[in-house]
Amino acid sequence: MIDVSIFEHKKAAYYTLGCKLNFAETSTIGNLLEANGIRKVRRGEIADICVVNTCSVTDLADKKSRQAIRRIRLEHPDAFLVVTGCYAQLKPGEVAEIAGVDLVLGAGQKHEILLHLERLNEKGGKHISVAPVQDIRGFSPSCSQGDRTRYFLKVQDGCDYFCSYCTIPLARGRSRNGRIDAIVQQAENCVRQGGKEIVITGVNVGDFGKTTGETFLELLQALDKVAGVERYRISSVEPNLLTDEIIDFVAASERFAPHFHLPLQSGSDSVLLMMKRKYDTSLFRRKVQKIKDIMPDAFIGVDVIVGTRGETETFFEQSLAFIQELDISQLHVFTYSERANTQALKIDHTVTPAEKKKRSCLMLDLSEKKRIDFYTSQIGTQRKVIFEQPKSGKIMYGFTENYILTECSCDRTLINQPTTIVLGNFNDDKSALKVEIL
Ligand code: SF4
Repeated sequence: MIDVSIFEHKKAAYYTLGCKLNFAETSTIGNLLEANGIRKVRRGEIADICVVNTCSVTDLADKKSRQAIRRIRLEHPDAFLVVTGCYAQLKPGEVAEIAGVDLVLGAGQKHEILLHLERLNEKGGKHISVAPVQDIRGFSPSCSQGDRTRYFLKVQDGCDYFCSYCTIPLARGRSRNGRIDAIVQQAENCVRQGGKEIVITGVNVGDFGKTTGETFLELLQALDKVAGVERYRISSVEPNLLTDEIIDFVAASERFAPHFHLPLQSGSDSVLLMMKRKYDTSLFRRKVQKIKDIMPDAFIGVDVIVGTRGETETFFEQSLAFIQELDISQLHVFTYSERANTQALKIDHTVTPAEKKKRSCLMLDLSEKKRIDFYTSQIGTQRKVIFEQPKSGKIMYGFTENYILTECSCDRTLINQPTTIVLGNFNDDKSALKVEIL
């Protein structure tokens, strides 16, 4: 039995790097500590406990995690410093060596943090509790209110795909998921807390149902019935798992937004084979066409990696040309970085940093052209926006259902309220469209 009296009057600070899943999990850890008497620090306060939820998707992510840990140690010099997340799971020894780290928790231990916090007064002890990834079996539900209006609802974790460049299965374990009835209850909870928009998130959400015998489509159908949710967004779905039934369902649903995030990774079939992806460019093209046939105004965001091992100049040009002909709205461009213990390291051909930079610029230019074209195609249309808490007083921003960023002068009565607007012209830096509120 944990003696929670040791937590009395204690304050905690939280730092999250990486994906929506990490944000959902940090928030759930925060709720757990709050429920046991450890409140969140207020701006400018010094914490007794710091929790850093790290990312390790690239070398740069590792570096940013180390920088964050060092900065937090300086900001909270006497705090008990806990580091968890993918970097902690993949390199616990490396993390523990960082000055000031007191506790390293693995992916399977992060939700048992209370147990480990009993060591609160054993400062500088360098405790590591990280189980081997193959021992991670359980699914820990999580749901967070991001710092904006939307909630991140974790429905699935881990991955069985083992793409040749990726370490996520090594950091988060095998694919597993929560039960539909429990996830529906979490969505109902978001509504009770005033949530209007929920983002369905996981590592490989399309693989939902692996451990419960349910299906992703059944989950979406069940969530669609939750009263009070204004809209859902699906974070990202593997192209081979985005079935025509799911696309038809989204098109017919009042609540599921016409917004798709598809990880393509390369527009060259030869590179897709080397990446061990589970589709080819013709399947991907079919999915995009299917979406645009029944939802012509849908937003389609696409992930692409440049500079992977084996991506020759010719294969890169194939990738660029393939994406140029796709009717999509924006790219998320990632630069490949070597990851330990990945199959990609067996491929001899490498791309120089200068060449990676050049390829990334070409993809980013193409992405900006696609975004401007998509936004332009929507000017004059009527949409619904949920405006977010403004960062500064005068201007507020919000996204339409088809993921167009909009801008208008601040009216606090409209924050987190679904608002019908007509899309106007671009703002000065072309980052958003202005709106006329109806
Ligand atoms: S699908 Fe591939 S890229 Fe995505 S998490 Fe799984 S292994 Fe990594």
